[in-house]
Amino acid sequence: MAFIADRLSRIKPSPTIAVSTKAAELKAAGMDVIGLGAGEPDFDTPDHIKAAAKAAIDAGETKYTAVAGTVALRKAICEKLKRDNGLEYTPDQIQVACGGKQSIYNAMMATLNPGDEVIIPAPYWVSYPDITLLAEGTPVFVDCTVENGFKMTADQLEAAITPKTKWLILNSPSNPTGAAYSFDDMKALTDVLVKHPHVWVMTDDMYEHIVYDDFKFVTPAQVEPKLYDRTLTLNGVSKAYCMTGWRVGYAAGPLDVIKAMNKVQSQSTTHTSSISQAAAVAALNGDHSFIAKNNAAFKGRRDLVVKMLNEAEGLVCPTPEGAFYVYPSCAGVMGKTTPDGKVINTDEDFVTYLLESEGVAAVHGEAFGLSPFFRISYATSNEALTEACTRIQRACAALK
Ligand code: PLP
Repeated sequence: MAFIADRLSRIKPSPTIAVSTKAAELKAAGMDVIGLGAGEPDFDTPDHIKAAAKAAIDAGETKYTAVAGTVALRKAICEKLKRDNGLEYTPDQIQVACGGKQSIYNAMMATLNPGDEVIIPAPYWVSYPDITLLAEGTPVFVDCTVENGFKMTADQLEAAITPKTKWLILNSPSNPTGAAYSFDDMKALTDVLVKHPHVWVMTDDMYEHIVYDDFKFVTPAQVEPKLYDRTLTLNGVSKAYCMTGWRVGYAAGPLDVIKAMNKVQSQSTTHTSSISQAAAVAALNGDHSFIAKNNAAFKGRRDLVVKMLNEAEGLVCPTPEGAFYVYPSCAGVMGKTTPDGKVINTDEDFVTYLLESEGVAAVHGEAFGLSPFFRISYATSNEALTEACTRIQRACAALK
């Protein structure tokens, strides 16, 4: 439609939200659907965080805050970055945004000129390419194979860098694969970046705290202090603190970039809710013991799903280091025929078959830039996961 801006023709609505919407529609039409598409913990926000929000309302903390966020929250973020990551930041180097997604949006809008390249390892979180395109940048995809644990190698990074490269985006643990970079994996990449001073790194550490089997999380500026002046470290409370609806994410980086991001935010949302900011202070400064408890539950679910999917004919499911997703290969079902005569040619055909035949909603790998795979979020009950995996096994066995 001519009335709609040209820039929107470059992007698409979030495919993960589209799957959740389709699953909800089928459910409303009476179908027994198990949704494994949503990227959020099923646990409720801990009580001490809710209490801080209620106290903030009663104390009248209901007015505008600074664009970058309250001083109390930015101080709590500085302490967190020091405590968990050994990184020194001052509160003016921090910006709080309406979720991690807005941090990425602010950063891209503040830094990209038309044609600037952004290296995005695939499979990637669906928003990285589209936010890059909206900001008139050019995504440069690097396929990270299952053989290398869905991680980018130093040689791949070296080959992707051009004089136009502005950013490398890293996301560990990853949405959609759950893959995470060890110190050595990360050092191999930071060694390459040290040789290319024009390339900045945007590290999305959203799943930092959701790791298993004693995996030790690392972030680029910690692994290579020489990159501190060209690293934007992104994080938030959505996933580990079970606060997706509160909309609090944050960025830490060089003052000039944070100031530019504040300029962008000052002309869009101004800031996230004052109440959510008070809750995030309680999350970052308060008791963290619930995270280990939640991770123990997630790990049990991960092991259950990996085992059951590997028992399904034609599927191969790697064991991820973190987050709450698995990214199984469905290469073994390509070319097979469904009981009603449809040939499965793509991972989208496969997830459509799972939804229509068994009522299991997953997201096709093509949406994340690497096929033929699909993503399952295991942030739901053991009962639902067992039932869903039984149905997937049955659907695979019915293919000829
Ligand atoms: N980064 C990654 C890798 C994510 O998976 C998500 C949410 O799915 C986000 C950022 C955004 O989180 P938020 O809900 O805080 O915007």
